[in-house]
Amino acid sequence: MRQTQLFTKTSKDNPADELAKNAQLLIRAGYIHKEMAGVYSILPLGYRVMEKIIGIVKEEMNAIGGIQMKTSALQSKDVWEKTNRWSDDVVDNWFKTTLKNGTEVGLSFTNEEAYSNIVKNFVSSYKDLPLYPYDFKTIFRNETRSKSGIMRGREFYWKALYSFSADEAEHNVFYEKAKEAYTNVYRRVGLGDFTYMTFASGGTFSKYSHEFQTVSEAGEDLIYIDEAKNIAINKEVLTDEVLAELGIDRATLVEKKAIEVGNIFSLGSKFSEPFDLTYKNAEGTDVPVFMGSYGIGVTRLMGTIVEVLSDEKGIVWPESVAPFKVHLVALGDTVFEKAEVIYSELLKHNIEVLFDDRVGLSAGEKFADSDLLGMPHRIVVSERSLAQGGVEYKKRDSSESTVLSTEALITMLNA
Ligand code: ATP
Ligand code: MG
Repeated sequence: MRQTQLFTKTSKDNPADELAKNAQLLIRAGYIHKEMAGVYSILPLGYRVMEKIIGIVKEEMNAIGGIQMKTSALQSKDVWEKTNRWSDDVVDNWFKTTLKNGTEVGLSFTNEEAYSNIVKNFVSSYKDLPLYPYDFKTIFRNETRSKSGIMRGREFYWKALYSFSADEAEHNVFYEKAKEAYTNVYRRVGLGDFTYMTFASGGTFSKYSHEFQTVSEAGEDLIYIDEAKNIAINKEVLTDEVLAELGIDRATLVEKKAIEVGNIFSLGSKFSEPFDLTYKNAEGTDVPVFMGSYGIGVTRLMGTIVEVLSDEKGIVWPESVAPFKVHLVALGDTVFEKAEVIYSELLKHNIEVLFDDRVGLSAGEKFADSDLLGMPHRIVVSERSLAQGGVEYKKRDSSESTVLSTEALITMLNA
């Protein structure tokens, strides 16, 4: 894509009303637009990042048997009354509204009820199980705090998968697969070194749930890490009993602030019983379906990547989620013809490239923008590089540059 076609522009100044680094950088670089506190629109560059994250999550969910669907955002009061979660005394962050005919509806803040209510129409026998539907969706929560940029939105985008199994044993097999799939997701988006599977409290049906926590000063949670075992415990579950059970010595734990980028829960029959979501087992007895839930905050993950990997000059995208693999920067109006040829060559070789074809800007301005935008690879076409027989190539996270021919560059980028 040509930068002259991109309607967004960068800004040197931090937005006055943003405290969070992720929102400051993403707004300055033109990835997102702030509508109001906790509510952001995703602009073209940001949308490309989101699509990359979604692609990775989708691949990992499909690999463990997930089937994608789409649940509605407006949800029926009757459905939520079945689990007593319509009441504002029980759920304090609902957004609710009223239809013209007076019927109250809610804007979905989570999805267990919606899924149980749908799935009960299609499950009657043990032969119908297990099943693993999931969706990506805008979730609405009237959060009290919203000072963490896109990491805590009043409106945000997530992936939620729900597992429907015949019994706990079948559920546990899937739960273990989900742990692996989640670990893959965080590794693939570039957060593997910073993200810990974390034991948290479980609720009625299991002792633990598992959170995936990315270590960052911007985090709202406190976790206790056992580096050798590569796991952590959430502050809320850090009891002597839990430590003994997990075989962890308190003295080895390191306290860190962290961001919850996902979580997985065993739900048992908590959300199946109220909906009569049962099946007939081989003996013909009605048994409640055993459920689990598996969430990932897509927009929170995007914010987390910015928090954790950016430097003093701007964003540093890992290649897997970068809006473009390459930033091609033409420096000086005399080199544009040559830069156009290189742009076409890169496109011909299926390399995603943002082409800074803006005229009349100084090298300093173009470099500052390029660092702020954060593409993993930068190619500069200048009179100097052409005189040296090629283009100047540099990685975003390195200070060293080399001069390469276009052919060598393409071979390297496609390697
Ligand atoms: P938190 O503890 O941070 O409030 P939660 O435990 O309520 O989150 P879930 O309801 O389980 O979160 O949602 C699943 C995932 O969605 C979370 O792990 C997180 O990554 C993301 N998420 C939750 N709330 C928000 C929010 N307000 N903005 C962005 N992402 C969110
Ligand atoms: Mg939580």
